Amino acid sequence: MNELLIKTAIEAQKLAKAPYSKFKVGAAVLLKDGKIIKGANIENAAFGASMCGERNAIFGAYCQGYKKSDIVAIAITANCDPIASPCGTCRQVLFELCPLKTPVYLANNKGKVIETTVKELLPLGFSSESMK
Ligand code: ZN
Repeated sequence: MNELLIKTAIEAQKLAKAPYSKFKVGAAVLLKDGKIIKGANIENAAFGASMCGERNAIFGAYCQGYKKSDIVAIAITANCDPIASPCGTCRQVLFELCPLKTPVYLANNKGKVIETTVKELLPLGFSSESMK
């Protein structure tokens, strides 16, 4: 399943709109019912209005009615070497919207893969538990 998820994330790079950076990111979220939601980065001339691929995938899953407990795994890909990893904002979003043990596959288009987890990507992350 990891291979299919990574392959789907690589396919999602074609959905990216990255006219400024030319850096296309594809992501895919595997859900408990077997469905895979794709995401890609979408840039805007006002750069702050741009959105990362992995956040688009996670938000897409939520917008289709899925919730935290439905998320099984995530793949995030870009055609680069070394392998790209999520920005700080995406790490925070993954930390709050996915189970902490969720496997995250960071991969490039040449077959390199790093397997990590949501918790490993953001040690000591901030959450609603932090505000109690
Ligand atoms: Zn990001």
